[in-house]
Amino acid sequence: MSQLFINGTWTPASTGRTRDVIDPSDGSVIVSVAEADDTDVARAVDAAADAFAGPWRDTTAARRGAVLDRVAELLQRDKARIARLESQDTGKTLREGAIDVDDVTAVFRYYADLADKDPGRIVDTGDPGALSKVVYEPVGVCALIAPWNYPLLQMAWKIAPALAAGNTLVAKPSELTPLTTVVLFELLAEAGVPAGVANLVLGAGSSVGAAMVASPRVHLVSFTGGLATGRGIMAAAAATVKKVALELGGKNPNVVCADADVDAAVDGALNAAFVHSGQVCSAGSRLILADEIHDDFLDALVERARAIRVGPGLDAASEVGPLVSSAQRDKIERYVATALDEGARLLTGGARPDDPALADGYYYLPTIFADCRRDMTVVREETFGPILTVERFSTVDEAVELANDTEYGLAGGVWTRDAGLGERLAARLRHGTVWINDFHPYLPQAEWGGFGHSGVGRELGPSGLNEYREAKHVYRNIDPRPSGWFGSHGP
Ligand code: NAD
Repeated sequence: MSQLFINGTWTPASTGRTRDVIDPSDGSVIVSVAEADDTDVARAVDAAADAFAGPWRDTTAARRGAVLDRVAELLQRDKARIARLESQDTGKTLREGAIDVDDVTAVFRYYADLADKDPGRIVDTGDPGALSKVVYEPVGVCALIAPWNYPLLQMAWKIAPALAAGNTLVAKPSELTPLTTVVLFELLAEAGVPAGVANLVLGAGSSVGAAMVASPRVHLVSFTGGLATGRGIMAAAAATVKKVALELGGKNPNVVCADADVDAAVDGALNAAFVHSGQVCSAGSRLILADEIHDDFLDALVERARAIRVGPGLDAASEVGPLVSSAQRDKIERYVATALDEGARLLTGGARPDDPALADGYYYLPTIFADCRRDMTVVREETFGPILTVERFSTVDEAVELANDTEYGLAGGVWTRDAGLGERLAARLRHGTVWINDFHPYLPQAEWGGFGHSGVGRELGPSGLNEYREAKHVYRNIDPRPSGWFGSHGP
């Protein structure tokens, strides 16, 4: 049974409680894992606080980088096992699971390399008798809370920079998909992360996650998940004035201009909307099409969407797997019903697959709605499933207005053969990532995060490390003498 990892030891929950982890491809129980409570969280936070007072923060950055490099090696050694587990736990295809492991490896390597590259800087005091420098120090004990769609990847985006910067941490994966995070903690220990530096608790957000956020001994919360949860965490963290980093949802536009390469853009639109059954924060769930190409584009898109092979993630023939849970599928079914009520025109999907072999899993067909208006619920809210809405535009200004008409601002795509137009559109989109003639690529070296309600702060890139560092200014007077500020008028 998978357990909690506290102060370097695998341990059951103090209450002995467990939770079943479900395989979404057939509803079966994969394994039961420990279900923590407040007491376990307090133990984990205490271990992290003690370890922070210990040698880890003073370990050389190069040494911390070497440990992260070793984690990267171990991830590659165990890639096949981890990819399989991620596929089974989340429902994503084995191919995606393997890509996730490679991406996570790259993130560990990136922060391993960055760890000792930027120790601080000298500041000109303008005074030959004084020296001034800015140095970076770890923030302290970090609470890291991750969602279920990219369990290993989202957690790695937090753990790698947190450790590189010399912090200690308590991590909580989603209660729906904890399994690869458990493996990652085995690898952290094997790589030489000292006891107490990285602790793992498992369990529900409302109890375990909330206790992490409320703890006065936690200095920083980094959260990836839904907007409503993020709002609650930000409010709860105010009581103890923690640093808060939030990676929240998105309602991401994908704009196709009249001069786009249609074959590439159709392919890109499918990829944007339906990879991982649309359970992607940056999913291109709002297709915004130029009038001139609208009808032909949709004909091609619908034909390709109907051909997507839905099935178990572990089956090599599957192109998309199931949704993560029956609750998630219920939510998608409600969005589809609302879209129809509000007048959207269903082009394909809108149902569960009728293959009896898939009846026990949480499958849903790739779904496309045309004639969508920006006031429709399905256009405004993040559905987090395989639903693509289609709006249309006649001028570039109109395309920009539609693309930016969302409370979110995570990511967006633009398709055009006109390089200048692509750049101008990219400059006008109020989103944290903009792809021109592509959708979804990201790089460990490039910042990831959202404008608006998509979040606060950035992961990846140098900013992803800075989230976990405090800047300290050290000023030294090299020739101290009385300043005479007071008493200059005499006794
Ligand atoms: P969620 O908000 O339900 O849960 C996320 C995590 O928070 C889970 O570990 C959960 O247990 C925990 N949690 C829940 N309530 C909590 C509380 N009160 N206090 C502390 N922790 C709590 O999100 P989800 O359904 O797991 O994930 C889907 C969401 O994540 C989507 O909105 C998606 O857009 C977002 N997401 C964003 C990014 C990004 O990079 N911006 C990446 C992936 C997912």
